[in-house]
Amino acid sequence: MTFQDLDLIEPIRKALTEEGYTTPTPIQAKAIPIILQHRDLLGCAQTGTGKTAAFAIPMLQILEEKQKTRHDKGPIRALILTPTRELAIQIGESFSAYGRFTNITHTVIFGGVGQKPQTDALRKGVDVLIATPGRLLDLINQGFVHLKQLEIFVLDEADRMLDMGFVHDVKKILRLLPAKRQSLFFSATMPPVIMTLADTILSNPAKVEV
Ligand code: AMP
Repeated sequence: MTFQDLDLIEPIRKALTEEGYTTPTPIQAKAIPIILQHRDLLGCAQTGTGKTAAFAIPMLQILEEKQKTRHDKGPIRALILTPTRELAIQIGESFSAYGRFTNITHTVIFGGVGQKPQTDALRKGVDVLIATPGRLLDLINQGFVHLKQLEIFVLDEADRMLDMGFVHDVKKILRLLPAKRQSLFFSATMPPVIMTLADTILSNPAKVEV
């Protein structure tokens, strides 16, 4: 299988060619068609499997295709929650790379640094927000982030999120999301506590394991 078989739009195919990607990894081959069908996804995959592109590529495509009819600056349309600053930055770089020929904008927010550059970016309006849970809650509480119009929610590295003690923050954020949304859930391991969390987030998910 090649990326040509995945029914991707031209701006994304062009970016992947420039990246030198020809063959989707197993998680990409399985997850991309499911996500493009707007289905919820439960993905069991570790870092290094190409997991980031497996969600970033179809998200960019869904958002770009719908944006054709949108002209306003608009609200945040997709949120990716990830446990660490390093992961958040990496995901941001993936959106920059795969999305560079699309009109989709993104920004990355995480704790441990001043919030001014982050709030400045949010004020301009972004389509995709990549965030760690603590700083996201801070900025929500200060009124810089509104999630009522969210179309796609991603919980990345759910098991690490729990290990790092973010479960309460994640649950607070979940309560602010619209019920009608597409949700993608990734974890390297799937113990019962993770499955229970997945059940509260996902609706009739397709399951993908690599
Ligand atoms: P990830 O598992 O998302 O952290 O990705 C691991 C690494 O593999 C990243 O450096 C990606 O740039 C790279 N990568 C992801 N998908 C592909 C692909 N289909 N072809 C070549 N490299 C890839």
